[in-house]
Amino acid sequence: MTWSLPLGSVAGIRLQVHFTFLALLAWMVVKGWRQGDLSGVPFFLGLFACVLLHELGHAMMAKRFGIVTSDITLLPIGGVARLERMPEDPRQELWVALAGPAVNVGIAALLFAVLGGQLPPAEKLGAGSLLERLLLANITLFLFNLLPAFPMDGGRVLRALLATRMPYTRATQIAATVGQVMAVLFGFVGFFANPLLIFIALFVWIGAAQEASMAQMKSALGGIPVRAAMLTDFQVLNSGNGLDRAVDLILAGSQMDFPVLDGDTVVGVLTRDDLLQALARKQDMAVGAIMRTDIVTVEANEMLARALERRPETACRTMPVQQGGRLVGLLTMDNVGEFLAIQAARGAGQTSPRFSSNSR
Ligand SMILES: [Zn+2]
Repeated sequence: MTWSLPLGSVAGIRLQVHFTFLALLAWMVVKGWRQGDLSGVPFFLGLFACVLLHELGHAMMAKRFGIVTSDITLLPIGGVARLERMPEDPRQELWVALAGPAVNVGIAALLFAVLGGQLPPAEKLGAGSLLERLLLANITLFLFNLLPAFPMDGGRVLRALLATRMPYTRATQIAATVGQVMAVLFGFVGFFANPLLIFIALFVWIGAAQEASMAQMKSALGGIPVRAAMLTDFQVLNSGNGLDRAVDLILAGSQMDFPVLDGDTVVGVLTRDDLLQALARKQDMAVGAIMRTDIVTVEANEMLARALERRPETACRTMPVQQGGRLVGLLTMDNVGEFLAIQAARGAGQTSPRFSSNSR
């Protein structure tokens, strides 16, 4: 479910517009046409071109640190660049966060030069020429994005700066609290000035809470190898086994997904759903014919947080764990959940000192 229209792609990054953005554009065109004044439309398009360039700024900087951006989506409230992961080094996060607002400074400087080195007064934002309005809009975008509130860039800048001198989790908690205070202020101002601010306040509030809980999860998983949280008591199938063998195993235990071996090598995973579907079709074939082969295997000594980032987006969420080329365990979210619950029960009241991004 994307509800988005593709615009094309730049440097391997898909650019798209959300349908709510198109609806807003259509509304502006209709309104402008009925009032006989369509001058708001080019400004609107120019503004969002700047937003797109701002997001591309983040994406290009992330690319320098080896982080892939899968897509950039334009929404009525702004742009969203979907980075595959966030940089773990706070200095890298700082650069990625600053790259977006830096693009707005660049555009503003360019327009400033084109307009003969004159800064139009602030009230021209609503009434000046197209270039004057875009210049003021880029200055506004720059200042607004640097407000220290997640998920705006200023929130990330604040977290990155704090994280260079304290553990990442604590830096996130402080930045999230500052963000939520800002959200309350936005909401308050929004009631009197601009209702759009109330929307933004809501986004900032949710963004800050999400960021804080993600950092906590990361902190709980930090420094723990896959080996510590994997399932070691499990059954395997052979690619030559018939489906009745798989049925026997499912009935005998509570395992849902079975690694499939060919000799000693893991060649796939048979999921319970796939097995049931094959049985419903009354197909009688070998396990090897219906197993999933688009699986991700992980190493027992790999860090758990890293391994979970590679978790496939497919229906099969079980990852076979190997050591020295041999299958030694299974990594499932259920088991990771159990592991975290046990960790929490054991260490109730004490925070994990293991994860601090500046020690890496
Ligand atoms: Zn940004």
